[in-house]
Amino acid sequence: MTTKRVCIIGAGIGGLTAGALLIQKGYSVDIFEREDTVGGRARSIQMSSHTHDSYKAILSNSFTHIAFSEPALEEIVRQKMFEGYTLDVGFHMIGGGIIEKLRSTLQDDFTDITIYHSRLHEQKNSHFGYFVTTADKLSMIPNIVRLLLAGEKTMKGLDAIPMTETIQKYGKGKMKEVLELNPRLISTINNLEYISTGEVFRTQRDMRLRGVFYPQHGLQMLSDTLAEYIKKHGGRIHVKSPVEKILIRNKRAEGVIVAKTTHLFDYVISNTLVQQLFTLADTEHFPPEYVTMMKALQGTGSLCAYYALTTIDPRLLGKTFIFIERDIGVDGNDAAGMIDFISAKPETGLSPPEHYLVQAYIICTPREAVEKETLKKLKHALDRNLARIIPDYHAHLQWAVYPAVWHLDGVEKTIRNTKPDIQTPVDNLYLIGDCVKASGIGINCAINSALALQDLLP
Ligand SMILES: Cc1cc2nc3c(=O)[nH]c(=O)nc-3n(C[C@H](O)[C@H](O)[C@H](O)COP(=O)(O)OP(=O)(O)OC[C@H]3O[C@@H](n4cnc5c(N)ncnc54)[C@H](O)[C@@H]3O)c2cc1C
Repeated sequence: MTTKRVCIIGAGIGGLTAGALLIQKGYSVDIFEREDTVGGRARSIQMSSHTHDSYKAILSNSFTHIAFSEPALEEIVRQKMFEGYTLDVGFHMIGGGIIEKLRSTLQDDFTDITIYHSRLHEQKNSHFGYFVTTADKLSMIPNIVRLLLAGEKTMKGLDAIPMTETIQKYGKGKMKEVLELNPRLISTINNLEYISTGEVFRTQRDMRLRGVFYPQHGLQMLSDTLAEYIKKHGGRIHVKSPVEKILIRNKRAEGVIVAKTTHLFDYVISNTLVQQLFTLADTEHFPPEYVTMMKALQGTGSLCAYYALTTIDPRLLGKTFIFIERDIGVDGNDAAGMIDFISAKPETGLSPPEHYLVQAYIICTPREAVEKETLKKLKHALDRNLARIIPDYHAHLQWAVYPAVWHLDGVEKTIRNTKPDIQTPVDNLYLIGDCVKASGIGINCAINSALALQDLLP
C-alpha cells in the first residue's frame, strides 16, 4: 500500500498536534507555515531580539494589539527593559488533562517538558486562599460525582440550557460563585445567557476538574516539542511558506499552491482561522449557506496584562488567582479574569534574575477588545485586582504591557453559535484548530480537534 500524503496549512498547536498524530498513524506529513517559526497564537517571544515594530507585527498576525503600556512601548524597547524576558503572544494557561493526553499519545517524546501546576486561588479580605476549599468541595461532592459520571446523553440534554438557568436552579452559596465564574473562564465569554451548561460540564470533565498548567520557558515549549517529534519521525515543516491556494477539483481537495508551485496531496488539512478559509479556497466548491455561515463566525476576546516587577512576596510565586468584576458594564455586565504568578517563578525562566513576570487577563467580546473606552475600564479592573493582591505593586513596576485580542478563541463556542465540523463539504479537505467542533476551548480545543481528526482519516 502506498503511503498517503497529507498537507497541513499552518503550524499552530492544532496543526502540529495533527502532524505528530498522523505521522504516528503512518501518513507522510508536510506542514506549510507562513511565519518564520512554529506555534501560531501559542507562541512565546524572546523579547530582547525584537524591535517595537517586529513585536507589533507578530501580535497583529495573532489578532492582537497593544492597547496600553507603561511606559510607552517605544520607550520600553529603547531602554532595553525587555532584555531577558520571554512573553507569550498573550496570557496563556493550559487546562488540566491535555498534557496527560499528549503524553499518553506521543509517549517518550513528551516527557521532557516541565509543567507547573496551580490550583485556583482568590484574594480574601486579608489573605489569599483556595477559590474552592476542601470544605467547599465536600459540600459540592454530590454534584461533582454526578458530573464525573454523567454520560454524553446527559451533556447533550444540557447543551441548549444557558448557564443563567442552571444558576437559578442550583446556584446557592459557594456553588453560585463557582457557577458564575468557572463557565466564564472556560468559555472566555462573560455573558452567561450564551454559555451552554452542557459544554461547560463536558469541558470540566475533560479537564478532569484540575487547575491550570503552564510549561517552563513558555508555551513555545509545547509547539517546539511537537515540531521536534514531527521532524524526528520524517515529517517536514516548511516555515516562511504561506499557502496561496487550496486546489479543489470535482469537489475533492487535491493539493495546494505555495510560492506559485503546485504540490499534490491525498488530504489537505487547514489549521488557519476558518473565517479565512475562502481566501485560500474558491467559494464555488462549497454550498452557499456554508460559505455565509463560515464568514459570519465570531471569535472571543480579552485584555491581557504583563507586569514586570522588581520585588515580590515569595508566597505568591506559583499561585494563580481568579476574580470577577461586578457591574462593569461589559456584555454580560460582570467580567471574569485571572492573575497568574506561575510565570513569576524564577524556574520558569521567563524573566531576568531578580525580576518577576506576572500575567493577567480579563474577558471581553471581540468588539470590546477594540473599543478604547471599554478597554480603559478593563485595564483599571486588571490593575485594581493586582493591587488587591499586591497593594504597592506600582512602586515595584519595571514596565507593563496590555495586549488586547479579538480572536482568543478562533470561534466562540456558545448556545447562539455552532462551531463548524472538522470534515468540510469538500472531500479530503478538513479543518482543525480552536475554530472547529471539538471538546474545550483554546489550546484544549485545538489539540482535541487533532485527536478527533486522526479518527476521521482512514
Ligand atoms: C492573547 C491570547 C491569549 C490566549 N490565552 C489562552 C489561554 O489562556 N488558554 C488557552 O487554552 N488558549 C488561549 N488562547 C488561545 C490559544 O492561543 C489558541 O486557541 C491556540 O493557540 C490556537 O491554535 P490553532 O492551532 O488553532 O491556531 P493558530 O495558533 O492560529 O495557528 C494557525 C497557524 O496557521 C498559520 N497560517 C495562517 N494562514 C496561513 C497560510 N495561508 N499558509 C500557511 N500558514 C498559515 C498561522 O501563521 C499560524 O501559525 C489565547 C490566545 C491569544 C491570542
